[in-house]
Amino acid sequence: MKLTTPGAAACQSCGAPMASAKDHAGGREDAQYCRFCADKNGKLFPFETVHENMTVERFMKVNGMPRPGAEEHARRALLAMPVWKNQK
Ligand SMILES: [Zn+2]
Repeated sequence: MKLTTPGAAACQSCGAPMASAKDHAGGREDAQYCRFCADKNGKLFPFETVHENMTVERFMKVNGMPRPGAEEHARRALLAMPVWKNQK
């Protein structure tokens, strides 16, 4: 059993907690972004890609939301993150 560190890493793009290496981009624990926000080299995807991944992977699959609401939630959540605050 793996202990969870308080203040464990969170994705700098979408805020998702990254509990283990496989949640990080490229499976690397030092990556700042999760696997839905960056490629295997840790390079952040474009906003639209991150938005689509978050819509589908988080709000539709995990929360069971229909697409229109999921898109709106994903957009608001992303725009609250420093990385994306200049997105229109
Ligand atoms: Zn992320």
